[in-house]
Amino acid sequence: MATQAVTETTLRAAVAERLGESRFGLWFGEGVRLGVPEGSDSLEVAVPNAFFRDWIQGHFAGNLVEAAREVTGRSLRLAIRVDGEAPPPLGHVVEPPPPDANDRPVAAPAPIVVPLPPVDRPRAQAQAHATQPNPARPARRLEDFVTGPGNRLAHSAAVELVESLGASFNPLVIQGGVGLGKTHLLEGIGAALRAKYPGMKVVHLTAEGFTNGFLDAMRHGTLTAFRARYRGAGALLVDDIHFLAAKKATQDEFLHTFNALVADGAPIVLTADQHPRQIARLSDELATRFLGGMVVKLDAPDPATRREILRAKARARRVIVPEAVLSYVADHLRASVRELEGALHSLIAHATMTGKRLDLALAKVALRDTIRHVARAVALKDVEKAVCQLFSIEPDALKADNRARAVAYPRMLAMYLARKHTGAAYSEIGRFFGGRNHSTVISAEKKVAGWIKDEARNGLLAGFETMGDVLNALERTLGA
Ligand code: ADP
Ligand code: MG
Repeated sequence: MATQAVTETTLRAAVAERLGESRFGLWFGEGVRLGVPEGSDSLEVAVPNAFFRDWIQGHFAGNLVEAAREVTGRSLRLAIRVDGEAPPPLGHVVEPPPPDANDRPVAAPAPIVVPLPPVDRPRAQAQAHATQPNPARPARRLEDFVTGPGNRLAHSAAVELVESLGASFNPLVIQGGVGLGKTHLLEGIGAALRAKYPGMKVVHLTAEGFTNGFLDAMRHGTLTAFRARYRGAGALLVDDIHFLAAKKATQDEFLHTFNALVADGAPIVLTADQHPRQIARLSDELATRFLGGMVVKLDAPDPATRREILRAKARARRVIVPEAVLSYVADHLRASVRELEGALHSLIAHATMTGKRLDLALAKVALRDTIRHVARAVALKDVEKAVCQLFSIEPDALKADNRARAVAYPRMLAMYLARKHTGAAYSEIGRFFGGRNHSTVISAEKKVAGWIKDEARNGLLAGFETMGDVLNALERTLGA
């Protein structure tokens, strides 16, 4: 019995790793048991109803068998059985009748979560899967990237890089905040390169991975092998390059790798959370090299794009979500795409768990905490507090009608940060910071953007070289 329990936990972990947490959570939650009985040569999966059986059989059989092989070292047969009386955890979820649905009692009220007929391209996905560095979930593809004003350029640049193999520009640097699609584009580029140029050695890793590999190689005296791995690459994709900040030796090593590949004409794509010039303690040489190609920025999606992204994600999960719900989510979660995805997942899980209709009422309940948390995450008050603390001024002074630099500059920084992180409108920000009108906020935003661009020196606050450094400190306080 004890061995059985261990097996189930390990099995579940192995399956979860393959499916990714959200899919695993949805399909292998409480109502589903996994096990390999003593002496048996089958992986037994007990599910609550025929719909689960068919879905799991149709979508995850391969993953299950693989996971079982990894855990037990044996090739097992998959046996999925419907476990009689358990209440169907899908509740009121309605699905198209499985081929042999006669064993499933259905009394479904109004449809809420409706699995649609398969729409994805399983072949393309399986292919991408096979070559992806993180096999826990299917590779994200350029085709699945929903474009809007904030990210269209970045997407086009990604497509162009694949087409031209870096002949039009090299490197491509994709810059953007958390959860805006950097890794998605990078993975998409990787998958597209592999599909278009079979046999190409596409090296795809994070800057952290590069750093750790380099340090390891130094420690073990295996630098030659380490270098060979990267310098022979047909394309190099490095995620989160800002991780190299302040790592002098790794930066030097990366510079050599970079130069060698550029000399070979291999395309290089990098992602960063900031403009290369803004990354603190990145060597001038590297920054200059990074700027030698094209830098494209990902901005937070506008409302229409947010809705479109939600629609696409719902479609990919074969779930119909009413427009009112999509709008509600899109209106309340503005900061990142990851947040949108998380909300959609909670909604579906909530509907599935409670068996309720996925409507606006459910959305409000299911997302109450998320939205409150997000609203709390960066509020105008937080910006005010962070700025006042750093500059040691009183909130009243910040809001007062005082044009002295010592308060006017912090006020401009506050307006800029408010605009960037709270999602509040110009007019609202103006009102908050001392009853100013929206054009004041717009010009503050421009002014601060100019400081960043020109790397303006900071003459206000000891310990910070540039205004950009001051902003970074404030953003860290805000957790933004
Ligand atoms: P980052 O690396 O910038 O932090 P990710 O690339 O991990 O962000 O994106 C977060 C999530 O949002 C991923 O699941 C990604 O697929 C999704 N995503 C981001 N942008 C888009 C988009 N434009 N269209 C579809 N999905 C997107
Ligand atoms: Mg990322």
